[in-house]
Amino acid sequence: MSNEVRVRYAPSPTGMQHIGGVRTALFNYLYARSQGGKFILRLEDTDRTRYDEKYVKNLYDTMAWLGIEWDEGGEKGGEYGPYVQSERFELYKKYAQELVEKGEAYYCFCDSERLERIKKIQTENKMAPGYDRNCRHLTPEEVKANLDAGKPYVIRLKVPLEGETTFHDHLLGDITWKNEDISPDPVLLKSDGFPTYHLANIVDDHLMKVSHVMRAQEWIPSTPLHVQMYRSFGWEHPEFCHLPMVNGADGKKLSKRHGSTSLNEFRARGYLPQAIVNYVALLGCSYEEGRDFYTLDELAERFKLEHLNKAPAVFDYKKLEFYNANYIRQLSTEELYKWTLPFITGTGDATLEINPENPQPKPNVGPEFSGVAMGEDGEPYCVDKSMNMTSADVKKTLLGLMPLIQERLKFLTEAAEMVHFMFTEPAVPPVEQLIPKKLDQAKTKEVLENAKEFVSKVFELDHEGAEAFAKAKAEELGIKLGDFMMPVRMAVTGSRVSPPLIGSIAVLGKERALERIERTIATL
Ligand code: GLU
Repeated sequence: MSNEVRVRYAPSPTGMQHIGGVRTALFNYLYARSQGGKFILRLEDTDRTRYDEKYVKNLYDTMAWLGIEWDEGGEKGGEYGPYVQSERFELYKKYAQELVEKGEAYYCFCDSERLERIKKIQTENKMAPGYDRNCRHLTPEEVKANLDAGKPYVIRLKVPLEGETTFHDHLLGDITWKNEDISPDPVLLKSDGFPTYHLANIVDDHLMKVSHVMRAQEWIPSTPLHVQMYRSFGWEHPEFCHLPMVNGADGKKLSKRHGSTSLNEFRARGYLPQAIVNYVALLGCSYEEGRDFYTLDELAERFKLEHLNKAPAVFDYKKLEFYNANYIRQLSTEELYKWTLPFITGTGDATLEINPENPQPKPNVGPEFSGVAMGEDGEPYCVDKSMNMTSADVKKTLLGLMPLIQERLKFLTEAAEMVHFMFTEPAVPPVEQLIPKKLDQAKTKEVLENAKEFVSKVFELDHEGAEAFAKAKAEELGIKLGDFMMPVRMAVTGSRVSPPLIGSIAVLGKERALERIERTIATL
């Protein structure tokens, strides 16, 4: 075997891409990049009953979104293709026959009724489940007679009846299994001529010259069997490295009960791919002491098998949130606009499905929350016609808001509610909500009277100047700055949580800000 590192991500398109799969893909990718090797994407679509085209689409789409590119496979092809197992069925048949000819595998003619019967006896007698190896002992004449009679058959591997199988795992060291604990003569080729996962996986890893198999630890029980299959073929097996588990905070395997797991859902919840890549790369691997943030390239430069952890990784949603907020802050104004627009208008990623049982609340996105919808011309427009805004105004306003909301966003989805005050005349807040705890109605009215001058100052002075003015005003009124700002914020934006106030007033414009203050004063 050459020294070139060749690794693969080999998902079965029987479900949506989730965190565990992405972690496997990412580690294989990073390892290939760190070694100047090749990263292969192979579709293990042998299970035709659970197969769905939409999962294939989701796979390619997710990889593209994350920016994980492969060198061979998928739609890209390559020297050892095709990389889609359903296009290679003839090949697996040939290799299964080869094992039969070598005496390493055998035809089994047991029908499903017989297999059911064995299963029943085994359960009733509390025996270990599995095939009773009945056909392993058929004579060549019996086999021929069955084949001539056109009896359906499967091909089973002859697993050694005694002894042990040992393999070395990069992370976990030597692992030894008694051969009697390997599944008794598993099926390699099914009666319809389709291969099982085991056969296709081993044949492909061999033919595609895969040097390292990096996959989740749940595949460890299959590995002794795979090692036996390599031995039967007379092939050298790749190196194995089973990746640490990814658990939820309760120490149980990460699942839907903990929150989002599917990548589509993370997208629908306003995560950036940079944050997912960075955080997922830390699940079970370390890079540099005391450093949190890495780009994909920086991770690839630093990835080492020696830095993998044996202990399970814990998926911490709060930590991912922190990464997301960080990467949101790093976007340019144009980029932030591009990323938040789907959530503001309820299009694109905002339309991806969210599991209704997810314990985390659904985000408030779309025109209903933002006041902005997407036109058929692909330009955003203001839903409230009385605002008299053109699409160009909407875009300009949104771009103006981006730097203001950027610091406050943990998720892209939150942009929708934060921009709303610009695209509708907010209802005048109820009096009780307007009055800060420490003030009374009269004092609040006084604040708003003074706020008119403050609004003017926003357009005369720079940010610091306007802020200093507000501070001085608060002092003059004998109140805290927060108690000065709160009623103004409520009046201008209709909400206690809004982007920074001075910036918001600047984007809204003097006239409209003053109008909103006047309206509010009138209710007090
Ligand atoms: N098709 C298997 C999966 O769905 C591949 C396991 C392996 O990497 O060998 O994960």
